[in-house]
Amino acid sequence: PPAIEAVDVVRRYELDGVAVEALRGVSLRIARGEFVAVIGPSGSGKSTLMHLLGCLDRPTSGVLRINGVELSGLSDTELAELRNRTIGFVFQSFHLLGRTSALDNVALPLVYRGVGRAERRDRAREALESVGLGHRLDHRPSQMSGGEQQRVAIARALVGEPKVLLADEPTGNLDTGNGTEVMAILDRLNADGGVAVVLVTHEPEIAAHARRQIHVRDGLIERDTT
Ligand code: ADP
Ligand code: ADP
Repeated sequence: PPAIEAVDVVRRYELDGVAVEALRGVSLRIARGEFVAVIGPSGSGKSTLMHLLGCLDRPTSGVLRINGVELSGLSDTELAELRNRTIGFVFQSFHLLGRTSALDNVALPLVYRGVGRAERRDRAREALESVGLGHRLDHRPSQMSGGEQQRVAIARALVGEPKVLLADEPTGNLDTGNGTEVMAILDRLNADGGVAVVLVTHEPEIAAHARRQIHVRDGLIERDTT
C-alpha cells in the first residue's frame, strides 16, 4: 500500500462554538521512499496535516489511510498502536532526555514494544551508527551540539523501522551547516531504507532537498510539484 493516502480530508475545530476548518478537503498520495516537503504560511494547516498523518488526530470527514490502514475504523488504542508501529517523529526542539545516554534515548521506543534489552542495545547502536554517531553512544544530549542532538533524535525516530518519518521544522534550531548535514542524513536514510519522509519547513533552501513539494494554503493543497 502507499505510505499515505488521503481523500478529501477535512479537519474542523470547534472553538467557543465557532467552527474553524483547518483542512478543507485535502487529497494526496505518498509512496514508500518518497521525500516530500510541506510548505505554507502560518495558519495554512501544516500542523493539522502533520497531526493527522502522525495518527495523533483523525479527520472530521474524508478518508485517511496510513500504510493501508484506514483511521476512521480504529479505536483510540488501535490508533496509538498504528502510530507506534508505523510513524517516526522528529521535532524542531529534539525532545531528548538530556541526562540519559544517546544509546538509551534511542533504545527507549523499543521498550514500549517489548523488545529485550540486548536487542534494544544492538538496534540502538546500529541506528546511531547510521547517523554517524557510532562513537558517541555513551554521551548525553546535554553534552552534544544541536546538530548531534538532532541526529540522535533521527536515530530514535528510525529505530522502530517506521514506514513514515514526519519531521516538523527539523532544522529550525540549527545553523546552516548542521541543517544541511541533517538534511543530507534524512536524504540518505530515505534513499536506503524506503521510509517515506514528510517534512514541514518554511525555508525554501531546506524544501529544495525534497524531491516533491506540497504547497498548502488556507487548508487546501495549492500546488504539488515534483
Ligand atoms: P500551520 O501549522 O500551517 O500554522 P495549523 O494547522 O496550526 O497551521 O492551523 C490551521 C488553522 O486551524 C488556523 O486557523 C488555526 O488557528 C486553527 N487551529 C489549529 N489548531 C486548532 C485547535 N486546536 N483549535 C482551534 N483551531 C485550531
Ligand atoms: P516546536 O516546533 O515549537 O519545537 P515541537 O516540534 O516540539 O514544537 O512540537 C510540534 C507539535 O508536535 C506540537 O503541536 C506538539 O504538541 C506535538 N508533539 C510534541 N511532542 C510530541 C510527541 N512526543 N508525540 C506526539 N506529538 C508531539
